[in-house]
Amino acid sequence: MKVDSLAQLGWSDDWARAFEPVAGPSVVPGRVVLEHNHVYRVLTADGERLAETSGRLKHHAASRRELPVVGDWVSVGQDDSGARIQIRAVLPRRTSFSRKAAGRETEEQVVAANIDVVFIVFGLDGPVKPKSIDRYLVVARASGATPVVVLNKADLCGSLAAELDVAVTAAGRVPVLAVSTMAPPGVLPLETHLGFGRTAALIGPSGAGKSSVINALLGHELLATGAVRDWDARGRHTSVHRQLVVRPSGGVFIDTPGMRELALWDTDAVTDTFEDLQALATGCRFRDCRHEREPGCAVKAAVEAGHVDASRVESYSKLRVEQDLVERKRAERALIDAKRQQGRAGAKTMREFHRDRDRRDS
Ligand code: GDP
Ligand code: ZN
Repeated sequence: MKVDSLAQLGWSDDWARAFEPVAGPSVVPGRVVLEHNHVYRVLTADGERLAETSGRLKHHAASRRELPVVGDWVSVGQDDSGARIQIRAVLPRRTSFSRKAAGRETEEQVVAANIDVVFIVFGLDGPVKPKSIDRYLVVARASGATPVVVLNKADLCGSLAAELDVAVTAAGRVPVLAVSTMAPPGVLPLETHLGFGRTAALIGPSGAGKSSVINALLGHELLATGAVRDWDARGRHTSVHRQLVVRPSGGVFIDTPGMRELALWDTDAVTDTFEDLQALATGCRFRDCRHEREPGCAVKAAVEAGHVDASRVESYSKLRVEQDLVERKRAERALIDAKRQQGRAGAKTMREFHRDRDRRDS
């Protein structure tokens, strides 16, 4: 992938200022377009470079969240021997999507950075669920990106006005757009939120049509960007898929596996939403109380006393069940990925692992 100028990637005067403190004679700015096994593909004004993090950066990073992720603006330069390209510094992020790292309770894992607009995609093949909109809005707001609610599959909806009404009420001031990848008006309504140098990402439940929307937005330009994604006759991937893609006509798209898995339970903002219930739950007799029929349940007592809304407890319980499921799946997948990696020499991105998982599941 090549760009005409860094501005096409989102570089601006603000970023130039942020770069000044880390600038040096043989150091250039670039944006991370792919991360795989701690090797980064960085797009610079001169083209793509494969880079590793410098020992210094690794050493000085107080936590994992200070290491580069897709979407980051970084400074790259050659190492002392001149043999390798290194990422020297990560410029301060404007926005970031993060989740708790698998198996590490307290460590935050940033999954993508510097996203300007996040499309929260739902499918109109079912009714709009206000609670679901709430949940994703919490995630989006925690990131700092501007959220837009997208109701896809409008072609399947017989009561569009009514569904829009429900969504608009739930979304408050956040714009709500109805689109379809199969029928007019297509995905055109999304274009007003895209533009030269603006970075977008899509989140939302699996099956809502995120891949279809991205493909529709990129169109045949996908080929022009070099991000050829194809399956050979035996269903194997045949190329590396960048997790950040630049559209020649304007707009930068980020789609990392981490982004796709994002859900409420991954962010502190979500936990904050149920902080009161969590505090109450410490008063339950059993540590693993599900607040259903257990004796000595402080949460149930609070509901009965009218201090807490029963439907909130229900959402909270559902979230915890989903959270357990996600954690289990994640652990399972990590194991599968590790095994595959041992057995396969070819370059395969996390994105592709993720795709494989999706296919197995469907
Ligand atoms: P993702 O999991 O969110 O990436 O969803 P996909 O893009 O894989 O789409 C899930 C399914 O919905 C696929 O079978 C798509 O063909 C279908 N789909 C996507 N967009 C539309 C749409 O606008 N209308 C209809 N009828 N189907 C759609
Ligand atoms: Zn309880």
